[in-house]
Amino acid sequence: MGLIDGNAIAQQVLTEVKAEVAKLAPTIPHVAFVRVGEDPASVSYVTKKQKTADEVGMRASLKVFPENVSLAELYAHLDALNADPDVHGILIQAPLPKHLPETEVFNRVSPAKDVDGFGTQSIGRLVQELPGAFAACTPRGVIELLRRSGVQTAGKHAVVVGRSLIVGKPAALLLIAKGCDCTVTIAHSRTADLAAITRQADILIAAIGKPHFIKADMVKPGAVVIDVGINRVADATKKTGYRIVGDVDFDAVAPLAAAITPVPGGVGPMTVAMLMRNTLDACLRIRNHG
Ligand code: NDP
Repeated sequence: MGLIDGNAIAQQVLTEVKAEVAKLAPTIPHVAFVRVGEDPASVSYVTKKQKTADEVGMRASLKVFPENVSLAELYAHLDALNADPDVHGILIQAPLPKHLPETEVFNRVSPAKDVDGFGTQSIGRLVQELPGAFAACTPRGVIELLRRSGVQTAGKHAVVVGRSLIVGKPAALLLIAKGCDCTVTIAHSRTADLAAITRQADILIAAIGKPHFIKADMVKPGAVVIDVGINRVADATKKTGYRIVGDVDFDAVAPLAAAITPVPGGVGPMTVAMLMRNTLDACLRIRNHG
């Protein structure tokens, strides 16, 4: 197995999505992006998602609000998108500025268009294992990486480090769901003796947000390691002055892992691909069921 190539697997997903999008003509799946402020990482994520939507034949629109936008103004825009029959998916790029209640804003998105999967209904349907739940794109991408790499999950012990709404919690829900059938431990910053727990993992998911946090002595030899982290670290040799690294100390962990995702080129491209998959699914459902 070795290196899990997220770029190649994301490309497979996108090729499938593109073929399905073409069959929908004259309907064109439309994902509406909402960005608040000019955070450079958010600007670059939304640009990448828009470009990918374009490549698979979808429509992508973008509304940018200034950093100091009021909640009322933001809600008015989301309500308009919710009511627009030509919009199939809505994505609010996180993180939002501190004065906005992020989770409440996510909840304002119509469940039928919640392609990011962060709303109450999406999470609830995921817990209930109901069909039609939009799973958050990054965790869904993690599962797809495991599945398409041939990683056996049933009965395996998966340890998820991180309990965020965006990654850790939904990843754990997907891993315990029927079909995946892992035994799951969720760890976080208050977990005692983290290394003793991560060393039990057959499948280790790192979603912490700390560069190179997972060291070799925290990983069981033969484990499958999925690194969700995206961290900027200073690097004077780069034009940008930084480079992107994961939450896993890749060079130290890779030799003992059965399989591992790189950063970049692992989970990141899958997040974008699964957004396209979710938008296509939203479009199909809205078209078929209104
Ligand atoms: P959050 O900051 O919301 O969550 C981080 C989690 O890590 C928290 O649950 C926190 O615990 C836990 N944590 C922090 N420090 C420790 C520690 N010392 N020991 C154990 N657990 C710890 O981040 P996100 O979940 O949003 O993102 C995680 C990483 O994934 C980031 O690097 C982010 O950039 C990246 N990411 C990548 C995506 C992709 O497409 N590849 C998409 C989304 C995120 P506690 O809850 O106790 O604070």
